[in-house]
Amino acid sequence: MEKDIKKLISQMTLEEKASLCSGLDFWHTKPIERLGIPSIRMSDGPHGLRKEETMFSKTVPATCFPTAVTIAASWDKLLAEKMGKAIGEECQAENVQILLGPGINMKRSPLCGRNFEYYSEDPILAGELAAHFIKGVQSQGVGTSLKHFAANNQEHRRLTVDAIIDERTLREIYLTAFEKAVKEAKPWTVMCSYNKVNGTYASENEFLLTKVLREEWGFEGFVVSDWGAVNDRVKGLAAGLDLQMPYDGGNGDKKIIEAVKSGKLPEEVLDRAVERILKIVFKAIENKKENATYDKEAHHKLAREIARECFVLLKNENNILPLKKEGKIALIGAFAKKPQIQGGGSAHVNPTRVDDAVEEIKKLVGDKVEILYADGYHIEKDDVDEKLIEEAKEIAKKADVVVIFAGLPERYESEGFDRPHMKMPESHNRLIEEVAKVNSNLVVVLSNGAPIEMPWVDKPKAILETYRGGQAWGGAVADVLFGVVNPSGKLPESFPKKLSDNPSYLFFPGEDDRSEYREGIFIGYRYYDKKEMEVLFPFGYGLSYTTFEYSDLKLDKKEMKDDEVLKVSVKVKNTGKVKGKEIVQLYVRDVKSNYIRPEKELKGFEKVELEPGEEKEVVFYLDKRAFAFYNIDIKDWYVEDGEFEILIGKSSRDIVLKDKVFVKSTTKIKRHYHINSTIGDIMSDPEASAKFKHILEQFASAFPAFSSEEAIMNFAEMMKYMPLRNLIHFGQGKFTEEMLENLLKELNS
Ligand code: BGC
Repeated sequence: MEKDIKKLISQMTLEEKASLCSGLDFWHTKPIERLGIPSIRMSDGPHGLRKEETMFSKTVPATCFPTAVTIAASWDKLLAEKMGKAIGEECQAENVQILLGPGINMKRSPLCGRNFEYYSEDPILAGELAAHFIKGVQSQGVGTSLKHFAANNQEHRRLTVDAIIDERTLREIYLTAFEKAVKEAKPWTVMCSYNKVNGTYASENEFLLTKVLREEWGFEGFVVSDWGAVNDRVKGLAAGLDLQMPYDGGNGDKKIIEAVKSGKLPEEVLDRAVERILKIVFKAIENKKENATYDKEAHHKLAREIARECFVLLKNENNILPLKKEGKIALIGAFAKKPQIQGGGSAHVNPTRVDDAVEEIKKLVGDKVEILYADGYHIEKDDVDEKLIEEAKEIAKKADVVVIFAGLPERYESEGFDRPHMKMPESHNRLIEEVAKVNSNLVVVLSNGAPIEMPWVDKPKAILETYRGGQAWGGAVADVLFGVVNPSGKLPESFPKKLSDNPSYLFFPGEDDRSEYREGIFIGYRYYDKKEMEVLFPFGYGLSYTTFEYSDLKLDKKEMKDDEVLKVSVKVKNTGKVKGKEIVQLYVRDVKSNYIRPEKELKGFEKVELEPGEEKEVVFYLDKRAFAFYNIDIKDWYVEDGEFEILIGKSSRDIVLKDKVFVKSTTKIKRHYHINSTIGDIMSDPEASAKFKHILEQFASAFPAFSSEEAIMNFAEMMKYMPLRNLIHFGQGKFTEEMLENLLKELNS
């Protein structure tokens, strides 16, 4: 195929080549009939297919699966893959060759409008799940477009804002999820983001699109612009942006032609982009399944099975959940009948159907339970309606148990703008407070795509976070509330007590077009843990209807080099009465470091299903990256020699087992010494200190007090921040400039 493509390119005119580098319309690539080059179609996702029949028309019905943050709360890699596979099937059936997703930008601030379609505040969790999602979609012969590369962590001024991020933070936090997904799942395409990164638009950022993405990570597909992200078409092409979307009237193509003709752009650069695009175009066509269909019912059922694995039980006093199928249950809150299952913007799917919670609960409990219902608030406006609250209180008084459905209306969360605050509508908060006054058997079911403040958190006995649960949310909620399924999700992000606790708070969303990520690597739990700050609910947290115990943490080595792999095993047992799933989390802590490092970082996770009394062993393999940080001096990942703790947790704040391993670096950092290198730096480098010792002795001999070796070493310790030049200033003539020059030569040799 490769040879054929090269041949095809050689038969093309310059105009034809340039034409392939932008779309035919809003969604297709251009065909060239004369050469038998077909056109392929891209469509939005990521949690379901969003295919417009014509521009801005209603999109075709498709299964709306739980959104990214929701699937992230399942921490279930295979589930993400299954969901991807089903969406891939729908793409085949709708003749779509590339799904525009997943979106894996970090949830830096709770306020980002697209948080519902992003996974997590942790790059390992986001990267792993996205990789599996991609594998699922692509297993169906449909490509994906990993987006938005990179650092598109806010909607505010997203087309012009400059994300200013130091390289260590960029590498460790904002690129790692992309790196994982690219390396592990090989997405067919990557979508560059709208924003600038460190002064250069992502769409013309050679560092991102070529150096990092292709040269370091080995990406082989094509890069597509986010829709309208092109700033300078020629610069973009040279930097590694292959396909411009959507069609812009031929403007970009014209510029490419002119640049080649004037010699500004080598034609090989254009050929390279065309080759990348054509490889994927032909691959997509080869994998196209004619007359494909999918089973709408089966996918709806799958959407329900997936959703109920994602919900996070935040609180369950007196085991009020699961509810019993008896007595009177009051269901309150308009969300119950009008589920808020996704967010707005290009990710908005037109669901094949939507299950409402009231109907699904009625179906599940049958005649044994009397179900009462009240709206409690308006969805379309935020005003507190006292009449609706009174109605709700009336039915709550009569009920044995009350379930309130609350959270964020879909209109709060969308592409294009960020939330101004982290609060729920006042009408929801008031409703919970008021109903709690008349019935203490209160359960709150939340729908929202990002953290919210919960001023009423002490009032309900149970809180179930369902995030943005997709079209089968209603049935999934019924399943979890009544214990058909045991909740097993855990938070893929921290819930701070209030917005101002969040580390990005001081700098988000920035000034004009500058958004400086001054909190650095301290995003989410990395910050709250280091600051020992109380949170509302920590990263990785979630309860179950059963209990789990951990034991037998084993490390296969006590000491290792950083090019070796550490095997970690741990046993987990279901010690309760019902079947359940536990998410075993592995964090690594650098015990003592000369570098600024988070308290601990997630480096592995596994979800296991256990029958009551059953025990399973979970195994993790940790390589260099689990211990490394990005060292900007050597521009590479680096492990500092020393002890690392392996922490096994039920959440980031509930570490149940730990052990230590000593890791030795195989990278030798060559230090360069100069007149302002300090005595301490030299003494901490064994080779340099050996060469330096006689100089120190000579220097000390100027002072009778430093006659013994011990005294000299004490002197060295005391003077550890003294630069070498001071040896001349204080050496009373015994240490000369010439001696310093010779010393530096020796140290640097
Ligand atoms: C969004 C992308 C989306 C594209 C096409 C853009 O506005 O940022 O996520 O894939 O539109 O709809």
